[in-house]
Amino acid sequence: MTTTPLTDQHRLSLLYRISRDISGRLNLNELLPRVLTATVDNAEAKTGSIIILNEQGTVLYSALMMDGVLQPDPERRLADTLENGLAGWVLKNRQPVLISDTSRDPRWGRRPDDDVTGAKSAIAVPLMGRARIVGVLTLVKTPAGSFTDDDLTLMLAIADQAGVAVENAQLYAESERRAQAMRALAETSRAIISTLKLDEVLHRVAQNTCSLLNVETASIGLVRNNKVVLAEATGRMAEQLKGIEINLGEGVAGWVAQHNESVLTTDVPRDPRFRCEPDQKTGLLTLASAAVPVRVMNDVIGVIEVMNPREGRFAPDTLSLLENLASVAATAIVHAQQVEELQAAESRFSSLFEDNIDPIIITNLEGIITDANRKAVETFGYSRDELIGLRVMTVHRIGTAFLSSDHFHHLRSGQEITYQTRITTKSGVEIPMEVHAKMIRRRGQEFIQWIQRDISERLQLEEMRNDLISMLFHDLRSPLGNILSALDVVRASIPPENETEHTLLTIATRSALRMSRMVDSLLDLRRLEAGQMTLTREQTDIAVVITDAIEQVLPITEGKNIVLQKDIPSHLPMVNVDQDMIRRVIINLLENAVKYSHGQGVVTVAARSGPQEMTVSVRDTGPGIPPGEQQRIFSKFARLQRDAAPKGLGLGLAFCKLAVEAHRGRIWVDSKPGEGATFSFTLPY
Ligand code: ADP
Repeated sequence: MTTTPLTDQHRLSLLYRISRDISGRLNLNELLPRVLTATVDNAEAKTGSIIILNEQGTVLYSALMMDGVLQPDPERRLADTLENGLAGWVLKNRQPVLISDTSRDPRWGRRPDDDVTGAKSAIAVPLMGRARIVGVLTLVKTPAGSFTDDDLTLMLAIADQAGVAVENAQLYAESERRAQAMRALAETSRAIISTLKLDEVLHRVAQNTCSLLNVETASIGLVRNNKVVLAEATGRMAEQLKGIEINLGEGVAGWVAQHNESVLTTDVPRDPRFRCEPDQKTGLLTLASAAVPVRVMNDVIGVIEVMNPREGRFAPDTLSLLENLASVAATAIVHAQQVEELQAAESRFSSLFEDNIDPIIITNLEGIITDANRKAVETFGYSRDELIGLRVMTVHRIGTAFLSSDHFHHLRSGQEITYQTRITTKSGVEIPMEVHAKMIRRRGQEFIQWIQRDISERLQLEEMRNDLISMLFHDLRSPLGNILSALDVVRASIPPENETEHTLLTIATRSALRMSRMVDSLLDLRRLEAGQMTLTREQTDIAVVITDAIEQVLPITEGKNIVLQKDIPSHLPMVNVDQDMIRRVIINLLENAVKYSHGQGVVTVAARSGPQEMTVSVRDTGPGIPPGEQQRIFSKFARLQRDAAPKGLGLGLAFCKLAVEAHRGRIWVDSKPGEGATFSFTLPY
């Protein structure tokens, strides 16, 4: 076969045609076959190939022409020449090559058809982009010696043009793909954040991720109790995936949640990081997978995972797209969760409010009723519509001054306040109520919630108990007086040497005196409460009263390992008090300290003088009093619920409080549970 060498004219016109042809094309699929066909035709070569590689060196596009016909599946056919043949040599050495006789050149990888076609001539040139080789163009022509240096020069000129064109087309395709991805991402974000239902958010995240990344399956897991729970999935086997729980560290999602890192792998089964892929549970065979953490303030709250890209491999920016999606998803998930929690709290509040067995009203900060529950409607006798808009003072006898009082100030600063009042129903009936009021926030606004509790029964009971006790003690008083004077008479008639009788008489007198002290305190309590008590004040040395009180309590420490001690400085100023009453206060505090210390301990009575007042305190090493109870124990009948504790009436401290307050003093307790208690009271000079 003869070949006509290309004339200069030919060469120039070929170059011109090719450059015109390729300059306007941005689609590689169109561009490459044209370059190849034009080059092969013009060189009258019949056989040639073009291979384009991406930055990582893998084949992006290829075209192969044999005997003037474009061949299918060029990639497979060209694999050999890239690895061991001429194209591979050009790539490696970044140099063009002209082989005049392929049978004599080792760079020519031998082919099965070589024997049939005989020796050939070949040219291979690198397609140069701006910074790297983007591919290789090869032409083959029979017989040997068909190509000249001029042909090589021409091929180099074409390769230069084609290289830049290919790179442009690649850049264009890449930027086009990115722009498309960004558009899709923006649309996805819009779709995701346009709902506030958590299920819907998750559904949209999964669906949009699946289509945006063009994968077989997308799942979204939420981290709960150290597990990733697959809350939503779309695509193949989605239904089987939903609800699966994956331990941290297990599978791709578990790995991402544990390491707080994105990951992309092309071979899940063989990747040593992902043992126990949950595929085993679902039957979904995951080969390639990409997953990213969904983070809120750097805490992982979930994982988005995409599996098995439809085009065989993931696009290079898969992880960055997924990360963008994850950040949109994080915001949407957190919002949806907050809204759902808020709605749940709102509905919990509504049902607690509506079905509460106590009447509850809600007012604004001016005291105007804005809501009332069923029980309030029933108790107050107004319809709900009538109640709304009324002032709270219309139904509560709290007085108009209340809303500007200190009480109300506490309320505004967030404290709960409790007080007793009477409410007036629509028909004019008055009911005693204990009211617990506190400020609440509802739908971003501040209100006051007033919970009322009907205490009619409690008050009646208390009244009955009071009456009973005072009746009892009244009746005890005169027999006790008789016992004490009879004991005195008996003592006088027994000779002093009868020690046993005298000891017995002392014990009897002491017990009778203790009873009489209790009776006196209880009767005083009633009188102090009623404001009918007059104090018999005299200048008193408190040290003497304390010593006296200790002496009287001493007998009850017998059999217990309790030390009673004093801590009183010398030269205390005198105080003007009702001696008998203050003695009984100290005795009460001492008796409690002994009574509630479990069998052993130290009880110290101390007195200190300040500029305005004297402070007396009784400190013990007993069980102490919980902070929440420290106020309540001074109320009548208040006792702590302790299983093994001695039982009393709960009137002692109530008496102490009234007695100290009658002296214009204060009484309180400082205590940490388990570390004893210190009861202190003041007596102004
Ligand atoms: P009573 O002792 O008759 O029960 P009080 O009014 O004297 O009544 O005391 C009220 C409650 O306070 C007691 O029931 C007890 O639970 C608690 N209490 C009083 N003093 C002490 C104390 N020193 N240590 C521990 N708990 C005490």
